[in-house]
Amino acid sequence: MSAGSPLRWTDSHCHIQDAYLDDPGGAEAVIRRAAAAGVDRLVCIGTAEEESRQAVELARSEVGPRAGVAVWAAVGLHPHEASHGVAAITDLVGRLGGVPGRKPPGTVVAIGECGLDYHYEHSPRDAQREAFAAQILLAKQHGLALVVHTRDAWDDTFEILGSCGPPERTVIHCFTGGAAEARRCLDLGAYLSFSGIVTFKNADGIREAAAACPADRLLVETDAPFLAPAPHRGKPNEPAYVTLVGAALAEVRGEPPEDLAAATNANVSAVFLLGA
Ligand SMILES: [Zn+2]
Repeated sequence: MSAGSPLRWTDSHCHIQDAYLDDPGGAEAVIRRAAAAGVDRLVCIGTAEEESRQAVELARSEVGPRAGVAVWAAVGLHPHEASHGVAAITDLVGRLGGVPGRKPPGTVVAIGECGLDYHYEHSPRDAQREAFAAQILLAKQHGLALVVHTRDAWDDTFEILGSCGPPERTVIHCFTGGAAEARRCLDLGAYLSFSGIVTFKNADGIREAAAACPADRLLVETDAPFLAPAPHRGKPNEPAYVTLVGAALAEVRGEPPEDLAAATNANVSAVFLLGA
């Protein structure tokens, strides 16, 4: 990168297909603002059958290319939705997944987000565990990465990942553990993805984990429209703000933002096998 050129960032996890659902122009505006901020790649993540379909539809559409932004999709069943069962997701991946090797924009790169959420417990824990294990197997079967959501459920998360055997490429999305949980994730070979929470005042434990994470296992994400970083906290989030997450993470790690941007871009390419 030449001196003075703007930094490029990748939002490794967002849910902007909702904007696309309600108003195709909404997603276009969000993606154009991302492009203007230097975010030229994003991964749109599924949470249930319909949201996964929409993520794929947005990734395949001309909305990203028109703005100079490459868009990929993940297909999965969020733990909140686990009681619906994984049959529809399995079917969707069977039809859409499985481009071998590097994934061109517009393709499915991961299963997720899936995992365990014992904080809200919108689905019974048994159903969550079953859906999580099924999606780990699905990722391995299709050679896709796995995107994990875990909240108040570390022990069972590690237990299930351990007993199923984690896929070769696994992301712990919106990492909210401390140094001990970070170590266990890294020992499993997983990448840690940090969100706008690193900018929140009460997140010292997460910042500690972020500071200690090896540079080749680090990702940045927005989780838009949720979890807007400071100074936008409490407002709708969008991929353009991944630049703020990256800047905060660089500061925590005592690194120049350009190094952090380059490392996280390389890592997201490696974990999702992103191809041009
Ligand atoms: Zn998410």
